[in-house]
Amino acid sequence: MKDWHKPKLFISRCLLNIPCRYNGIGAPDKIIDKLEPYIEIVETCPEQAIGLPTPRETLRLVKIEEGIRLLKSNNDEDLTESMSNFSKDYLCNLGEVDGFLLKGKSPSCGLKEVRVYTSIKKGSISTKGNGLFASEVIKLYNGIPIEDEGRLKNFNIREHFFNRIFTLSHFRYVKSLRNITYLIRFHSNNKLLFMAYNQKELKKLGNIVANHDKKEINELLKDYEMQLLKVLSKTPRYTSNINMLMHAFGYLSKGLSKEEKAFILELIEKYRIGKVPLSVPTNVIKAQAIRFKENYLLSQSFLEPYPEELMDISDSGKGVSH
Ligand code: SF4
Repeated sequence: MKDWHKPKLFISRCLLNIPCRYNGIGAPDKIIDKLEPYIEIVETCPEQAIGLPTPRETLRLVKIEEGIRLLKSNNDEDLTESMSNFSKDYLCNLGEVDGFLLKGKSPSCGLKEVRVYTSIKKGSISTKGNGLFASEVIKLYNGIPIEDEGRLKNFNIREHFFNRIFTLSHFRYVKSLRNITYLIRFHSNNKLLFMAYNQKELKKLGNIVANHDKKEINELLKDYEMQLLKVLSKTPRYTSNINMLMHAFGYLSKGLSKEEKAFILELIEKYRIGKVPLSVPTNVIKAQAIRFKENYLLSQSFLEPYPEELMDISDSGKGVSH
């Protein structure tokens, strides 16, 4: 079995099934249960951390002239300053993490989909926004993967998140070695994965690692890291994945019979029309790379960018389409 560098992940405490929610229970999540053996967890409950009891009154985000406030829904007590100060302090001391998994829809931890009311009164109109803690996470950890547990039910979003946290965690290890040889190897082993993500940004990453300006290692790693976050910022388009598969196929095609070539191309076409997930043509290419001892391909992270035990194509009803 491959040795994985465990991503360091911040997780909202209730998602670990710790009973810290307003109603005195946790919010267990199957994906997080599966992830647990493969990650290093840091966790907290921002609402408990600012001294609120459990169970407790529900909180509400309310938009007033001065901005968005976090209020207790029974008596209007304003917790905004307290939550903002805690969040800034906590996050400034958290250090490097490879990603955040936050509890969706919470006025503290939720991302984008949290109700923001126009008044504390019941039945008032609402728009949507980020929870207060989540807003600070977004400000301070720009470029780092940040998701909520609800979005991870979608296969494509989950795969993108896993790709990123495992790649970033590996990079964190490479960074700790402060040696260009390891950086070059990391870059080389991830080339096809990065190609699927963003070919244009990959070129810039290649220029950084070539180090024509002879930068010293710390500066080089810093530049590389910033560009790496850009490369991985958006979910790969299926056309880029096909481009990457065809590139990998090119390494094998000499040794394959006409029928074998046709079979692989047919699988790539099935992926194109959404009939099979990316893992199907990828695994067939992997099998052929093993057969032909094609070491360059076998070293490529795209063959298994995260532990295959986490691979689960189930989806929130959207199938395996692009
Ligand atoms: S969503 Fe955040 S603040 Fe709410 S219970 Fe969970 S960890 Fe605590």
